[in-house]
Amino acid sequence: MSNFAAMKENVLENTLLAYREGLFAGTSGNLSLLDDTGTWMAITPSSFRYEKMKLDDIVVVEAATGAVVEGKHRPSSEWRMHAAIFRNVPGSRGVVHTHSPYATAFAVAGMPIPVILIEMIAYIGGDIPLSGFELPGSEELGAIVAASLRDRNACLMANHGALALGSTLDQAHLRAIYVEDAAKIYSLALQAGKATVLSKAAIAAIRKKLGR
Ligand code: 13P
Ligand code: ZN
Repeated sequence: MSNFAAMKENVLENTLLAYREGLFAGTSGNLSLLDDTGTWMAITPSSFRYEKMKLDDIVVVEAATGAVVEGKHRPSSEWRMHAAIFRNVPGSRGVVHTHSPYATAFAVAGMPIPVILIEMIAYIGGDIPLSGFELPGSEELGAIVAASLRDRNACLMANHGALALGSTLDQAHLRAIYVEDAAKIYSLALQAGKATVLSKAAIAAIRKKLGR
């Protein structure tokens, strides 16, 4: 049996930190952690104010069905998307879905973010792709987001937000921070008049140096 208390603590800790970091406003966004057997997910509750969130507000569901096995709230309405990512991206166990403002602005503009910083290669795996629009909470949203994540650790979600995954929730969280950082810097560079994308040769050299 998995340790639900430790999983819930890890979700709460990352959620409160991410909220303080400004990665989402109000009750937007959601985080989840899959247990090491791939059966259970600890996930944030739906439409719940982050300021008030405590350990027993985190919900544990069966990943395959969304059935609540522990908790007093409805799980995030995006639990299907989280489960679809865990099913489709081997090794993923943490998902952070944000509405972080700069990344979401590019998702609204319909602009993926090219490789403008070396950190994007190290943390995200390259550029930040833009997945198409599907209704929040739908199976379809999970399918298109999971498809965007085949060879990247993060993506933008058209007219909605951003998402990062990891082999741990801490790793997914750090990647979500780098998504917002890249979007902010790209936005400022565009406002300054020019954003230079790293050359293919530079990207290849950095990949070689990083061994990825
Ligand atoms: P929940 O509050 O149900 O997690 O939904 C927030 C959200 O970001 C929907 O995409
Ligand atoms: Zn959302």
